[in-house]
Amino acid sequence: MGNKLLEILSFMTASAEQVTPEVTLLDFAAVNAFLVGDPLSDGKEFVLVDTGLENSYNFILETVKKYYGRDTKPQCIVLTHGHFDHVGSVIKLSEHWNVPVYVHELELPYVTGKMDYPLGNPNQGEEIAQMSPSFPHTGIDISHRVVILPQDGKIPGMPGWRWIHTPGHTRGHISLFKELDRVLIAGDAISTIKQESMWSVITKKEEISGPPNYMSEDWGKAKESIMYLKSLEPAILLPSHGKPLRNLKIKEQLDVLMSKVDKMP
Ligand SMILES: [Zn+2]
Ligand SMILES: [Zn+2]
Repeated sequence: MGNKLLEILSFMTASAEQVTPEVTLLDFAAVNAFLVGDPLSDGKEFVLVDTGLENSYNFILETVKKYYGRDTKPQCIVLTHGHFDHVGSVIKLSEHWNVPVYVHELELPYVTGKMDYPLGNPNQGEEIAQMSPSFPHTGIDISHRVVILPQDGKIPGMPGWRWIHTPGHTRGHISLFKELDRVLIAGDAISTIKQESMWSVITKKEEISGPPNYMSEDWGKAKESIMYLKSLEPAILLPSHGKPLRNLKIKEQLDVLMSKVDKMP
């Protein structure tokens, strides 16, 4: 068991769903990625946020063709952070499209082959945590593609959006927010699935939680990041793990999360 199981599961069940006029959620069972850009707009500019697992490559290419047409490519790829389930297809896709990959400055060492992520704490989760040594913790090397996100918070190819530094899960973790319609791509800062249990990943049992325990670095910072995202009062919250939350449910669920936050390790 380990990431092989996740890959098989994701291969069998990969699906795409347009969750706002501008955002298409790519669901790879264990993890989500996002296409951001209105497929009906004239220029059809779009950006890929995260890249799923190693075998998510073909599904992403097919979905891009379906939504944006043949011979189209994103302006760039943006990574919320460099964990294996978010960067799985980044090497192949960035080569295929010949596009830059944007990350937060502090995530740079993990995507330029300089550093590996710290090993998770196996005492902090259940089944997945026990398997975590089999999860790849090694950073990848996309030195020739990677670009640091603009300091002013803007995201190339995503007008109206800004990136927000939400450290804790990893030191250079980011979330993405569009003020106008209050759409939040939370990344791993907030999950709507209890990820520490393999069974809930498979059955997609919904439960609001903070970042996945088994691979988070700094809980103090993770809590601050959750509080900040809550203060944005998103109308739709799109997590990397679990299903989207909408409107009233968000406030209700984030209140539940805040009451849990203090009990976190
Ligand atoms: Zn992660
Ligand atoms: Zn993740």
